[in-house]
Amino acid sequence: RTMTSADKDSPLIFVVEDEADSARLIVGTLAEYGFRCETFGTGRALLARAKRMQPELAILDLGLPDMDGLQVLRELQEQHPCAALILTGRDGLTDRVLGLELGADDYLVKPFEPRELVARVRSILRRYQKAATPEPGGHSAVRFAGWHFDIGRLNLVADDGREVSLSAAEAALLQTLLKRPNKILTREQLIGERELDPFDRSIDVRISRLRRKLEDDPQDPKIIKTVYGAGYLLCAAVVWE
Ligand code: CA
Repeated sequence: RTMTSADKDSPLIFVVEDEADSARLIVGTLAEYGFRCETFGTGRALLARAKRMQPELAILDLGLPDMDGLQVLRELQEQHPCAALILTGRDGLTDRVLGLELGADDYLVKPFEPRELVARVRSILRRYQKAATPEPGGHSAVRFAGWHFDIGRLNLVADDGREVSLSAAEAALLQTLLKRPNKILTREQLIGERELDPFDRSIDVRISRLRRKLEDDPQDPKIIKTVYGAGYLLCAAVVWE
């Protein structure tokens, strides 16, 4: 484990990457832009550290010596949901989709430009902070369709007591839907600040992930409906608290 020093208030990022050159590039770049960083060579080392110290973001290489990076992501999300960026090879489309399904916020294909890494990291952290910030007007929670959504904690509780936590990206998407209930939102509107990439399946993946968390039958969704050729619609009465 190596650490970089930066302002102690700057976001803490964990990086797991077994290739030394790549790890150096990532940490060097992030340190240059003022992020606090801890690097690990194995998935187990990162998970052990995450039990005592919680990062705001984890950058996960998928090909690790001791375990699959997606397994690291899965275990990390169980321990402590945090933002996650996965690093994949050029042909890792399945990994990318799987990573998003497991709650990663974004992915970066290797090799990447250092500036692209910084841009993605900033965008994820901004989304995360936005998602965890109460709504203007002081709303910190919202009720809809038998769910209570605590915005600051990225946490959903059902009327029957069942609890579900969301990734930052899922929470941001849900908030966008909740702000305009019973209206069709296009994929462009849902993607928001991100560049629209017609091959980017992240919105669809996140919608299906939200459905698996919210819907009684995700195959026959009653809360988040698909409007073919148009977009998605949140079908519920929404009460902000
Ligand atoms: Ca590797």
